[in-house]
Amino acid sequence: MPTSLLTKWSGVGDAGHIGTGGRSEIGRAATRYINGASRQHFSRAEELAAEQREIAERAKRDGRRSSRDDDRLREIDLERRTLREELEAAKASEASADLKEAATELVSAPVSDDETSAAVGILSSRVCPSCGGSMRIRQGGYNGTSRRRSFYWLCSARPGACPTIHFDPAKEKLMALRKSDPNLDLPTKERRAIWERKDVVRETQIRLRQHLGDKDDEVICPHHLLPMKLLEQPSSNGLLLSTYQYVCLHVDDDGRACQHRIPLETFPQVSETLRRTEGAGIIH
Ligand SMILES: [Zn+2]
Ligand SMILES: [Zn+2]
Repeated sequence: MPTSLLTKWSGVGDAGHIGTGGRSEIGRAATRYINGASRQHFSRAEELAAEQREIAERAKRDGRRSSRDDDRLREIDLERRTLREELEAAKASEASADLKEAATELVSAPVSDDETSAAVGILSSRVCPSCGGSMRIRQGGYNGTSRRRSFYWLCSARPGACPTIHFDPAKEKLMALRKSDPNLDLPTKERRAIWERKDVVRETQIRLRQHLGDKDDEVICPHHLLPMKLLEQPSSNGLLLSTYQYVCLHVDDDGRACQHRIPLETFPQVSETLRRTEGAGIIH
């Protein structure tokens, strides 16, 4: 079991609320290791994904989907809603227990772009204003002019249907409570210089490649509720960044490959992957 790294975000001076309305709950913790309860949820989620695949295959073979299978897909969808809530609750309660346990090792750091990037696909600490589901932090493109990346909250319950919410770490005054980590705590210039060093990049790449094909219990497909797998992108250029991604290997109702992906585009993301799997990030 890797060392658990905890992250909890909270608002400054406004009792943990961000954005509009009192339903936004920054401050629910995200933990990086999984307990028995989550295991059970995963095994049920596996069964549902297998059944969904069977239904899709049957429809392909028969040329159409039976109304019985239509009904079953609706039931699966409903069961996933419950399962999703249970999974989030199990993770949140374990996380708060871990935060208490690690109290003496915790640091409080302002939420920067790097801090946000490190939490992409994992941190879920905001409630969707449209449906009440939990939202996860996601990463958009890099803007060459502002030299910054964009971030947004994506609803886990209805990822395609609920609107996303833009998140700008520079504007939101948030603090992250987590274990100390040189990859986030060293001065920006200093850690960037180390990350980009040729020997460090080479070593990091070797470490990362050892985890290709592994499932990461903390990076979960919002639709299938199952851990995603770390793979090399088909059109990779062999560089450290933008070469690897988390992929969901399950299919949708029509048998198409699930489209949820989390590409590793930044050093903080790569560092977090290593930290989750080996207990130490790029700088260790
Ligand atoms: Zn929603
Ligand atoms: Zn999926």
